[in-house]
Amino acid sequence: MILDDYRSPWLTEDLLDLQQLARTFLDKEVLPNQARWAEQHMVDRDFWRAAGAAGLLCISIPEEYGGGGGTFAHEAVIAAEQARIADDAWANSVHSTIVAHYLAAFGTEEQKQRWLPGMASGDLVGAIAMTEPGTGSDLQRVRTRGIRDGDDYVINGSKTFISNGTHCDLLVIVARTSDEAGGRGLSLIVAETADLPGFQRGRVLEKIGMHGQDTRELSFTDMRVPAANLLGGVEGRGFQQLMEQLPQERLIIAVTAAATAVAAVRHAIAYAKERQAFGQDLLSFQNTRFVLAECAADALAARTLVDSCITRHVAGELDAAGASLAKFWCTDIQNKVVDRCLQIFGGYGYMMEYPIARMYAAARVQKIYGGTNEIMKELVARSL
Ligand SMILES: Cc1cc2nc3c(=O)[nH]c(=O)nc-3n(C[C@H](O)[C@H](O)[C@H](O)COP(=O)(O)OP(=O)(O)OC[C@H]3O[C@@H](n4cnc5c(N)ncnc54)[C@H](O)[C@@H]3O)c2cc1C
Repeated sequence: MILDDYRSPWLTEDLLDLQQLARTFLDKEVLPNQARWAEQHMVDRDFWRAAGAAGLLCISIPEEYGGGGGTFAHEAVIAAEQARIADDAWANSVHSTIVAHYLAAFGTEEQKQRWLPGMASGDLVGAIAMTEPGTGSDLQRVRTRGIRDGDDYVINGSKTFISNGTHCDLLVIVARTSDEAGGRGLSLIVAETADLPGFQRGRVLEKIGMHGQDTRELSFTDMRVPAANLLGGVEGRGFQQLMEQLPQERLIIAVTAAATAVAAVRHAIAYAKERQAFGQDLLSFQNTRFVLAECAADALAARTLVDSCITRHVAGELDAAGASLAKFWCTDIQNKVVDRCLQIFGGYGYMMEYPIARMYAAARVQKIYGGTNEIMKELVARSL
């Protein structure tokens, strides 16, 4: 099959070994738990430690901080394996690809030594809190305040839609630390949430998909965080730090999108070969064949776009516009392909016990988080 014959040009032997490791781990530790995690709206706490013990957490963080010493390509392999089994519960991308990289890129030496080894072992789970009830896309309008008081910041405000909101031990908070206009007044402050007075976890949000993820509201009331937890140690750099890291967040979303499109086509082909209607299998109807041929083309095109971005990103050459382009285009393709593949399943496609149904429900948010696809197009357009 054309999708099986294609191999990503960056997929080295070392990465193929990782693919096998991740596949075995996810099949054993995720597949049997998917329905239960969806019901409890979170993965088990021990699962994070199991992932750490398997070497899957912070795989692209340098070994001196407990990480795997790999690159973004390693993260991409793990994300693609999650997509293969429609795992929408384990927010490893937020933890390993996003939060750990904020710490690695901007943390002081002391901050990196203090936090990264725990993130790599799974003892500390990471989350990032940018979005607020009043602002999402327009990050410069963040209202959460961090006021310096002696050796602390006193933080007040509320955040919403925070992935890993239940499990998070380390929370990177986007807060306004001065009245300087726009992004210049923003800083990133890391809260260690265990027994932290003033830190409240609010509602676990009922989403239309990704039920196994602990997406929550969080709020801070006179919450004191040591000033030493200011990421990088200098105020006012928050917006710039976000702008530097968001391309990687966008690219990992595109990786999941392309891998999910491929997985959806594979599921639909298998089903179409097996399901009988009017005395023949679905794959013998010309419409099914054409739909699947078109979906295979879309999925393969998304993969090759993502592959070129991964190669450029690992070489340090992918800019914000390139990552934004991949994010909006691949997530649009993901939604289109998953929807068309679901149709082939008929009524069974609407049943949550079928992976294609979970893929459908999980796909929608890919066009929204990490920066909406409209904002992605703005970023691309500005570069034209
Ligand atoms: C499941 C889930 C998980 C999430 N996880 C996290 C997380 O871990 N941490 C975190 O901080 N956030 C998280 N988010 C929040 C997410 O990043 C935001 O929802 C997203 O950035 C959009 O912000 P908003 O919801 O406030 O929409 P708004 O910014 O209010 O946008 C509403 C609509 O207006 C459009 N729009 C806005 N501005 C423009 C413009 N200039 N031009 C054209 N159209 C525009 C948008 O594209 C969108 O269609 C998560 C969200 C979800 C649903």
